[in-house]
Amino acid sequence: MHKFNLLTVIAISLAFFGGRIMAEDNKDISYTLVLHGGAGTITPDKLTPELEKAITADLRTALKAGQDILAGGGKAMDAVVTTIMVLENSPHFNAGKGAVFTAEATHEMDSSIMDGSTLDAGAVAGIRTAKNPILAARAVMEKSRHVMLTGAGADKFIETVGIETAPEEYFHTNYRRGQLEKARKVGDTAFLDHDIEYKFGTVGAVALDSHGNLAAGTSTGGMTNKMFGRVGDSPIIGAGTYANNKSCGVSATGHGEFFIRATVARNICALMEYKGLSLQQAADEVVMGQLVEMGGDGGIISVDKDGNFALVFNTKGMYRGSVSHRSAAKIGIYTHTSADGSH
Ligand code: ASP
Repeated sequence: MHKFNLLTVIAISLAFFGGRIMAEDNKDISYTLVLHGGAGTITPDKLTPELEKAITADLRTALKAGQDILAGGGKAMDAVVTTIMVLENSPHFNAGKGAVFTAEATHEMDSSIMDGSTLDAGAVAGIRTAKNPILAARAVMEKSRHVMLTGAGADKFIETVGIETAPEEYFHTNYRRGQLEKARKVGDTAFLDHDIEYKFGTVGAVALDSHGNLAAGTSTGGMTNKMFGRVGDSPIIGAGTYANNKSCGVSATGHGEFFIRATVARNICALMEYKGLSLQQAADEVVMGQLVEMGGDGGIISVDKDGNFALVFNTKGMYRGSVSHRSAAKIGIYTHTSADGSH
């Protein structure tokens, strides 16, 4: 009897102290994760309190999903994909479920991903079938010998590798249909110029894991009323997405035509690598300098190799979030303040 009690005490103590050691170990795991859900004319008068609450909740859920992976010692690549999938599954963002309509009232989605440790990358453009386009981009990187697949070929590849697909109707939302109708009525230029309820809404994530590896990914439905075959910056490595363990990881959102020509994501990392700029300086230079001069609206989220992050946008708002082993999760929407007063 005595012996049994002693063993029980030892077993309980081991479980208790063992658990504590593990918990303490987890504290030593360093990581940084940032996300965006698009930039644009996002002002308090454009969002009802309910919508703001719902969007904030989605951003928080996505951030937490990625954070759990990183805090458990997982890979930046897995955290980026998981975070983006949560946003793709929400109707509130222009990616996956909430993808915008093309001029033909269809959905053509773009996505890309990059591994900063190997410089491997994968991208898809103009796909119509994958429920989660980020999985298609990852599959191109891991299961093909190419970097980018487009249109019907990409959809065939998606089927071949067994990625979950969804019927066309899955991507139909009334909100996006309304945006298409508005765009058709006022014409493209006016739609963009006057920013009539216009939001870009692309999603993206960048992570640095405890192994020192960076990864970045982006996913989008593109731009409302876009011409058939139009491809934006989101699937273009170096424009919408870039990651390099030597410098930083970046995911962009905004008017893609400008982001492609300004090679936004790569330029930020190159300024760090070649000119020794800090991440914040590099991001400001590209987003508030070059892009503004060109007339390009949008923003970026980024993390550098040391875990610093910069969230920079030249629009009225950007859905964004950040968390790291040393800073609590923060969600931001507008320029200065956000739902929870952070960012
Ligand atoms: N950059 C995307 C595109 O041009 C749009 C967005 O960021 O929302 O396709």
